[in-house]
Amino acid sequence: MKIGILGSGQLGRMLAQVARQHDIQTVVFSPGTNTPAGQVADVEVSAAYDDLEAIRDFAKQVDVITYEFENVPLMSAMVADEVTPVHPNPRILAIARNRIREKSYMQDIGIPVAPFHPVNSLQDLELGLNNLGVPAVLKTAEEGYDGKGQVKITDRAEAKHAWQTIGQKPSVLEGWIEFEREISVLGARDQQGGFTSYGPIENDHANHILDVSLIPAGVNSDIADKAILSVKTVMEKLNLVGLICIEFFVTTDGRLIANEIAPRPHNSGHLTIEGHVTSQFEQQMRTIIGWPVGDATPIQPACGMANLLGDSWPLEAETQGPNWRDVLNDGSVKLHLYGKSEARPGRKMGHLTLVGNDKIAVQEKLLATRKRIKADG
Ligand code: AMP
Repeated sequence: MKIGILGSGQLGRMLAQVARQHDIQTVVFSPGTNTPAGQVADVEVSAAYDDLEAIRDFAKQVDVITYEFENVPLMSAMVADEVTPVHPNPRILAIARNRIREKSYMQDIGIPVAPFHPVNSLQDLELGLNNLGVPAVLKTAEEGYDGKGQVKITDRAEAKHAWQTIGQKPSVLEGWIEFEREISVLGARDQQGGFTSYGPIENDHANHILDVSLIPAGVNSDIADKAILSVKTVMEKLNLVGLICIEFFVTTDGRLIANEIAPRPHNSGHLTIEGHVTSQFEQQMRTIIGWPVGDATPIQPACGMANLLGDSWPLEAETQGPNWRDVLNDGSVKLHLYGKSEARPGRKMGHLTLVGNDKIAVQEKLLATRKRIKADG
């Protein structure tokens, strides 16, 4: 059995690691070389994502294909799917890669989303601001991630500046959501229709980038049930096999608002590696190769994950990295590094995970451990 992976970042790397554990081979496809996933895969194919000949050759080498990011060109995913099954089905890519289609789709199937207004011109933006009021946030319809391609608008007079900042690209204006917390739910669905889920997971962002994820999320069972049902509904309606994640806001007045769908493993699900009987990456592997979903029960009552960004690398240690011996003097905190040689601000270099009985204690220990990276490195 050989799994093909479109994309070669840390998500592909962790899938390749789990595949190797099960003696399943992986072939990764991306324009890069010596990539995080390529370092642990059996074969690393280096070609442009829109090189359809290379895509066909790659598809012929493997038994099933998945992807680790939603910006894979749709045509490439469809061409690959003609040769070898691609999971989740590429129809979700068309939805998940475009914020307008994503929100419209969720709204159509009854999942509440933030009020939104498609924007293709400054006039559209002004009209949208009249309808939705301020504050609001303007986001490029495609290719924004980790807060890139987003501008918060707090005054109508900022419209022109915001439209220029976003590069005058097709965008969506969203009403500002006063949220109490952000949560995510991951769902795994197998080829027999079996479904299981993780979460809700509570997520804290810093500078629009995921910072810390924790379980339990501290939301009531009504919110948790609704969030899980939303994920199940999307997977069933689109007959998706594999793994997806939906990120939600829980508003200060107790409503659940869906923000984004990721049809792949998610950064907030990294805590499932140590925290659950089956990790999100094993679920991805199991479901796409035709195995039933695995047991997604948490191993202990609490678990947390803290991202390690390039920002926290000690300056003088950019090449050799932090002094892990001192940072990890307490052996309960687990380290994952992604094999990226250059530490840039905002770049995800790795993460820390800790399981325990108490969420607050887990969070405090993770943050204290992370703080030592800069100090001790
Ligand atoms: P996104 O790229 O849509 O995931 O947005 C990144 C982060 O910006 C989210 O995780 C929120 O913290 C914040 N954000 C995005 N959209 C909104 C909104 N409509 N209202 C309030 N905060 C938002």
